[in-house]
Amino acid sequence: MLMKVKVPVIAIVCLLVFSLAQSQEVWRTCIAVIDGDTIVLDGNERVRLIGVDTPETKDPRKPVQYFGRQAYEFTKRLVEGLKVRLGYDWNKKDKYGRTLAYVYLEDGTFLNAEIIKRGYGFAYRHFLFKYYDEFKRYEREAREKAIGLWSNMERQELLVANDDDNPIVYVTRTGKKYHREGCSALKSSKIPITLKEAYERGYTPCALCNPPKFRKVNYQIGAFQYSQFLLER
Ligand SMILES: [Zn+2]
Repeated sequence: MLMKVKVPVIAIVCLLVFSLAQSQEVWRTCIAVIDGDTIVLDGNERVRLIGVDTPETKDPRKPVQYFGRQAYEFTKRLVEGLKVRLGYDWNKKDKYGRTLAYVYLEDGTFLNAEIIKRGYGFAYRHFLFKYYDEFKRYEREAREKAIGLWSNMERQELLVANDDDNPIVYVTRTGKKYHREGCSALKSSKIPITLKEAYERGYTPCALCNPPKFRKVNYQIGAFQYSQFLLER
């Protein structure tokens, strides 16, 4: 009797898995580009590209940033009017209701990565995502080649900005400290986050395990000020 109940459940699960796999292959059309890292698809769906930050052009609360216009035009040239396919990470929507996605073009171009590789955007460092290490590497390579937004930097600025280490540290469900791997305080729970995220969420370094620490450094590209967290050595 039990088996007869289970079969349809398995069938439904298979159908679900099948339809999820199918939805990955759906082709959509990019009808507009809002800025370097945000596009609009048919049906007016706003998509924020995962893992890439381009200089701001549209946020009314912020001034237009250095290279913002170029980043917008780069993305527009690459994708507007074309067919795209989406891939997802752990979170499908952001707090503004935008879809969070990896965007692929018909010729195989991985849009999120391409923007960073060509020097039109930064690898996103606030949260972990599937291609975190790759995107950071693409950014470092673009800086080394001094292309896109990295082409206008003084040598000193390049050295400062090139230091982008952001190691993984651990927090617990209830504590206010962050730790290095193996700390005795991690016995009950152990949640990996980046050091930057630990700072932004107000965690302080544990006195027992002495985990890595950041200091904040301000730097300038042309007329624009940026601040970055640098690993203490
Ligand atoms: Zn500790």
